[in-house]
Amino acid sequence: DMDLIKRASHMIRKSSKTFVLTGAGISTESGIPDFRSPNTGLWENIDPMEALSTTVLYNYPKKFYSQGYKILLDMKDAKPNRAHYVLAEMERMGFISGIITQNIDNLHQKSGSQYVLEVHGNTREGSCINCGKKVDLDVLTEKVNNNEIPPRCDNCHGILRPDVIMFGDMLPEDFNIALEEVENGDLLIVIGSSLVVAPVNYLPQMAKKLIIINSDSTAMDFCADLIINESASAALEAILYELKVE
Ligand code: NAD
Repeated sequence: DMDLIKRASHMIRKSSKTFVLTGAGISTESGIPDFRSPNTGLWENIDPMEALSTTVLYNYPKKFYSQGYKILLDMKDAKPNRAHYVLAEMERMGFISGIITQNIDNLHQKSGSQYVLEVHGNTREGSCINCGKKVDLDVLTEKVNNNEIPPRCDNCHGILRPDVIMFGDMLPEDFNIALEEVENGDLLIVIGSSLVVAPVNYLPQMAKKLIIINSDSTAMDFCADLIINESASAALEAILYELKVE
């Protein structure tokens, strides 16, 4: 709908500090399944809320490394899609100040975005729960492949874990920074998130102005100033075009 696209680009032009909040839906076009699209059936045998929980990570490490960990590794080779590239370009052009992402797939960084707050962690690193030493995630993978489950720290023999926020974990410092950025900003654009996961879904409720871009409805549609029900790439390409010609 061209009218919605025009209104969105107008709101972006008027705003002096715009942040973007992304969820799994921005990466489905890169081949990474999300958790809550209707009828995808991709998680038929695995409940991600269980497989990626602290309970399974700490109490059933064999189960964690045969299920949840595989979901994480599957993201490592994905490539950014047009939606990620448009956001990187919008940052270069000065239309957005940064990205807050719930994703752990590294695709915003791969597409060239500079300021990215990762509120659910990342799949690049792991760390020791005892001494805090950080290691490349490949170090964990190698140990797991050598049947060292759970993988242990070379420093202190503590347990190594991925730096991904599991269900049951506290959020990292990036989330506190995100709260401040949204509080000080004047526009938030949410892209590809069902917005059912707290506390990240506080962010759209705090935003002064809110645009939601999502294939279908979200839990926070009631507080949006503008809703665009389209794919992330189509909507963002149209908005970028409009920003360039306006
Ligand atoms: P979600 O799965 O709950 O919601 C995704 C939303 O995106 C759905 O409402 C869906 O309709 C919409 N969507 C799907 N494809 C789209 C497209 N091409 N364009 C626009 N909208 C589209 O995702 P969430 O809200 O991010 O919550 C899932 C949690 O699981 C997150 O916290 C995240 O950390 C994690 N997760 C991450 C990844 C990833 O890193 N790529 C993938 C799956 C899950």
